[in-house]
Amino acid sequence: MEIQGHRRRGLVLVPWLMQGHINPMLQLGTILHSKGFSITIAHTQLNSPDTCSSYPDFVFLPLLSDVSSSQGNGSDDFSGQISNLNSNCKAPLQELLTQIVLKKQEQHEEPPCIIYDPMMYYVKAVAHHLKLPSILFRTSCATNMLSWYVCPGIQKEGYTPFQDFKSLELVPGLHPLRFKDLPVIPNSDVKILDALRQLVTCVQNIGTTSAIIFNSMDCLEQSSLAQLQQKCQVPIFSIGPMHKLAPAASSISLLEEDRSCITWLDKQAPNSVIYVSLGSVASVNEKELAEMAWGLANSKQSFLWVLRPGLVRGSESMDVLSDDLKISIGERGCIVKWAPQKEVLAHSAVGGFWSHCGWNSTIESISEGVPMICRPFFGDQKINTGYLSHVWRVGIELENDLEREEIERVIRRLMLENEGEEMRQRAADLKLKIKLFSKQSSKTRDRDLEKQGDRFHRLM
Ligand code: UDP
Repeated sequence: MEIQGHRRRGLVLVPWLMQGHINPMLQLGTILHSKGFSITIAHTQLNSPDTCSSYPDFVFLPLLSDVSSSQGNGSDDFSGQISNLNSNCKAPLQELLTQIVLKKQEQHEEPPCIIYDPMMYYVKAVAHHLKLPSILFRTSCATNMLSWYVCPGIQKEGYTPFQDFKSLELVPGLHPLRFKDLPVIPNSDVKILDALRQLVTCVQNIGTTSAIIFNSMDCLEQSSLAQLQQKCQVPIFSIGPMHKLAPAASSISLLEEDRSCITWLDKQAPNSVIYVSLGSVASVNEKELAEMAWGLANSKQSFLWVLRPGLVRGSESMDVLSDDLKISIGERGCIVKWAPQKEVLAHSAVGGFWSHCGWNSTIESISEGVPMICRPFFGDQKINTGYLSHVWRVGIELENDLEREEIERVIRRLMLENEGEEMRQRAADLKLKIKLFSKQSSKTRDRDLEKQGDRFHRLM
């Protein structure tokens, strides 16, 4: 399906530089390109030299010639990185957009519309200044954004959700989530609070932004999406799961994928392997890493473990496992620096996923019917864990300090016991639900996307 006459409508996409933000933005670009829009990516950092060749139909324009802040190193100065990029990218984006607008004028074409990640909150001011329409793209779940509206209200009513984070009481206005599922931000971290405040303000004061897009589905977050639609003054589009709607090629890795793990998986029995990855940002200390490793080794289950550079705080070396551990793990463990995760999760040998529960990892796992061990670190990962363990009941939360005996127990519960088997069944049902939802809506989806295309067109 192609929207008549829209092929030349230009969209400029501005992603945030992290893996979990770039992937869905490129997937969104691929989906919208297939609907007739032309796509320009205004980016800060793309490490992969193959990126541009993987997207021959996209135009890639770098905003900065040198981004010293590196990807995926669990940087301590995350808030500094956010504010630096927001101030350093403003002028280059304005210049770049001015050139695009002038070119469009010369060619008697419509000005472009900007779709941006709110981590790049400066984009709103640039779009407003140039009188260009803009659309927000949130790469986390809709419930996360809803919590920003709900939390201040319940705090006024006397609840203290940020302190009360262990309570199983349901959060008023956020059912079925509990207080323990709310994101916790360390009160002491003023810089992070300040960065978060900027982000929340950008999203809540919609201003000239014309719409919000989520990588989500009604069948996962119907209540939150409906409530958000009531709270926001602009249309909300939920288009997901994007990695399934966009062709497999439409993701890039900022770190090089080690495909040898697929050959290793090919030799394993169905549902016998637990895949372990904490995403591109979360980090652990050396003691926690050793507990993880001993827990995995003692569980006697086969595992595929992503030990990415920067995963262990304060350790440059990747050779972080002791000789004892290596002997104990033997052939049962395959360790890589970065895996082709979507392919791993779709592999029949994978029977469980120990994850930090980033939103991408969450939807990639449930789309393949893989039950999870949930170990959230920060932000929306706690909300996603609440959905996985408490609402959809396809995951076990690994709580308290990382400790080898508990890790071993949880792995065995998921991989060997009835409880895990029941979760696997529910995960298979959820996979089917997502697939059916996508299929059912595929008849209406083209029509909806066409309608959305028309709405985009009007919004632009
Ligand atoms: N990912 C990957 N290989 C890995 C680990 C992660 O390709 O070894 C991808 C994963 O498929 C997902 C993204 O990195 O699309 C991580 O995003 P998520 O939202 O789960 O977490 P974040 O990294 O943003 O914390």
